[in-house]
Amino acid sequence: MKRIAIVGVGLIGGSFALALKANGFKGEIVGAGRSATRLQVAQDLGVIDRFETDLAEAVRGCELVLLAVPMGAMRSTLLALRSGLSDETIITDAGSVKGSFVADVRSVLANCARVVPGHPIAGTENSGVEAAFATLYQGRRVILTPLKESESSAVTAVQALWQQTGAQVECLAVEHHDRVLAATSHLPHLLAFSLVDTLTELQEREEIFRYAAGGFRDFSRIASSDPRMWRDISLANQEALLAVLGHFQANLSQLAESIRQRDGEAIEQRFQRAKLSRDGFC
Ligand code: NAP
Repeated sequence: MKRIAIVGVGLIGGSFALALKANGFKGEIVGAGRSATRLQVAQDLGVIDRFETDLAEAVRGCELVLLAVPMGAMRSTLLALRSGLSDETIITDAGSVKGSFVADVRSVLANCARVVPGHPIAGTENSGVEAAFATLYQGRRVILTPLKESESSAVTAVQALWQQTGAQVECLAVEHHDRVLAATSHLPHLLAFSLVDTLTELQEREEIFRYAAGGFRDFSRIASSDPRMWRDISLANQEALLAVLGHFQANLSQLAESIRQRDGEAIEQRFQRAKLSRDGFC
């Protein structure tokens, strides 16, 4: 490709650009967003080659556009860039929820044949272009959720670009993606935020945090993630997230009951099953 645009040059969009450059991408990478100051930082860091704050201008003449803005900004971003697209422009995204992106894109574009939704299963708790790094996607999975009308040439092109970042690409149906990611990513973030928030409300919070050990650090790391990004993800994947949260609440209630009943066998069985699962997948 000769020119691509990245709309939202933060951790995910910036790392995509850096990874492509590190792996021999020779085309031009245009950064696009709402703040010239922030985009200038991205250019100074060598993440993008040039930038535009007029999104339609940014995508004009680009073969591919990657949207890497928060879920709640996808629709307004698509509306702002729409007039710069040609019939050939491939549109993909890196959003964490696919159902809401598909709804957004269908509500904005009449023809979605060149749309290939995607989601890199990689990230950190840090945000912004300063947090971007070239190896973020190395050996990590990227899930594409092509639409029934997505042209195979567009899917192949998006797949090839992600592979160039070092990622392994797989395809899933949209609903399947959102159900699986609700369980593996969105629920853990919700729990981390909720746990730390619960402890913050307790009177002994200063002592709790002072004496917190490695386990607390491991479990709570993702509660340092961007609250607004996770607000958007929670709302965008409402149905799947509430379903898995219901399962979790039931499990937690059973555990609480076992503790109340002093049923050591039930507690140990539950912990044993969890340990086996985790040891197995790690
Ligand atoms: P980020 O580092 O905060 O970057 C977000 C980018 O979007 C920034 O360039 C920001 O511009 C721009 N932006 C923020 N709010 C906006 C708004 N209301 N309108 C237009 N642009 C806006 O976030 P990120 O971690 O890269 O996440 C980007 C996308 O990737 C999200 O959809 C997220 O769900 C998805 N994702 C994240 C992770 C992760 O672990 N972080 C993993 C996989 C997928 P400014 O510089 O002007 O604020």
